[in-house]
Amino acid sequence: MTFAENPTEFPVTIDADKCIADKGCTVCIDVCPLDVLRVDPQTGKAHMRYDECWYCLPCELDCPTQAVRVSIPYLLR
Ligand code: SF4
Ligand code: SF4
Repeated sequence: MTFAENPTEFPVTIDADKCIADKGCTVCIDVCPLDVLRVDPQTGKAHMRYDECWYCLPCELDCPTQAVRVSIPYLLR
């Protein structure tokens, strides 16, 4: 799997101000079937670790603070 290198092009972005991973939340990480999300040890917040995504949306829908945004490519909509 490709490491996610360029944050501006990630399919999934996480608003660090809203994310409460530093308080123990791992919902988005747990629900992702591709296992591409992680808690960033530097920030304590969730982030996209691997640049792979099925655009299946449970990470966005289940986040208790609406911190996750999945950008679905135009051709998949
Ligand atoms: S579900 Fe939301 S609040 Fe919880 S770790 Fe993921 S982005 Fe952060
Ligand atoms: S949209 Fe699906 S595959 Fe993509 S990060 Fe969220 S849960 Fe994982």
